[in-house]
Amino acid sequence: MTAKAPITQDVHTIPRKVPEGKPNLIGMTKGQMRDALIGAGTPEKQAKMRMGQIWQWIYHWGVRDFDAMTNLSKDYRAMLAETFVVALPEVVTRQVSTDGTRKYLVRIAGGHEVEVVYIPEEDRGTLCISSQVGCTLTCTFCHTGTQKLVRNLTSAEIVGQIMVARDDLGEWPEPGARNSETRLLSNIVLMGMGEPLYNFENVRDAMKIAMDPHGIQLSRRRITLSTSGVVPEIARTAEEIGCQLAVSFHATTDAVRDVLVPINKRWNIETLLEALRSYPKVSNSERITFEYVMLDGVNDSDADAHRLIKLIEGIPAKINLIPFNEWPGAPYKRSSNNRIRAFAEIIYQAGYASPVRKPRGEDIMAACGQLKSATERARKSAKQIAQEAGL
Ligand code: SAH
Ligand code: SF4
Repeated sequence: MTAKAPITQDVHTIPRKVPEGKPNLIGMTKGQMRDALIGAGTPEKQAKMRMGQIWQWIYHWGVRDFDAMTNLSKDYRAMLAETFVVALPEVVTRQVSTDGTRKYLVRIAGGHEVEVVYIPEEDRGTLCISSQVGCTLTCTFCHTGTQKLVRNLTSAEIVGQIMVARDDLGEWPEPGARNSETRLLSNIVLMGMGEPLYNFENVRDAMKIAMDPHGIQLSRRRITLSTSGVVPEIARTAEEIGCQLAVSFHATTDAVRDVLVPINKRWNIETLLEALRSYPKVSNSERITFEYVMLDGVNDSDADAHRLIKLIEGIPAKINLIPFNEWPGAPYKRSSNNRIRAFAEIIYQAGYASPVRKPRGEDIMAACGQLKSATERARKSAKQIAQEAGL
């Protein structure tokens, strides 16, 4: 959290409140949208075609005004406007880091706020999105873990994060637009606030929308869902979403993982690894990403690195080392650069890619585990956090 010089910050409110009452077409699955159109009087025989037309306007062209949907009759457009809304979450603030990272504060129904982070890189642009307001889990190194869960995001709020970022990047296609490989927003990571597998259905529906070939068209290879290890939902993720999987591993013994990622007390390392072994086969994904936060003196020894290699033997994997991002009251320190390098080298020598994640947007508190929200009011005290971490 080095306080670097100029941070550009523009605060603006886009008046896109979700009006009460009318159903929102955003976030519906194709089947749900078709049923909703039938419910609004569309003849059953036409419903699939109408749904396809509306879907393409909304998710391919980024059009939200029914009047602009010119391949629908005037009367039909009027009926749609009477009955439905096309509503996205409201962007409250946008901050741009000195390194180009953009952080949006997005307000959703009930006045809750979530953060969305866009990270531009040479060969890709990644959007880090949230699945819950806060988190029920209490990983001791994670800022979100110090906040109480307020609620699950709806599928509209999840896919809406992608859509508001595309608005800001000016990336709805002109005719003959670029394919996903060269887009500014080319990748999605579910690594913001919340545990995506504790909000499975909404995350699945939103990702299906993002992947749909008649809309946003992101390849499932460019979507990565990160879980702390909700074992019973891992096979379902492979079958029903089929995206790439990342796992917050962070420790090589149950004793340490019980403290860092307390869900380990429910599903321990062995159980987790068992569930991971079949993931790449079922989902057709290439490798599983093992996320490993580097905490000084806690999980960063050579012995840890060797144990890690042993544990993941046989799983197609890459290990993503994350230098710990400190936050006020955090009970841990970041491992030194030398330590991280030595750890990475052991893993690399064993034949695994071991990239060290470069902290991005630190000057705007946009790095992993630093996201917060209005629910911060419910934050635990530093003392309480340290106690729970057994320090
Ligand atoms: N709940 C999911 C996804 C969100 S967290 C999960 O736990 O996987 C996204 C990643 O950021 C996780 O690997 C998490 O362990 C990591 N993270 C959380 N707090 C961090 C911090 N302070 N510094 C570095 N990484 C952190
Ligand atoms: Fe929740 Fe993930 Fe943070 Fe753990 S690391 S508290 S699961 S958001």
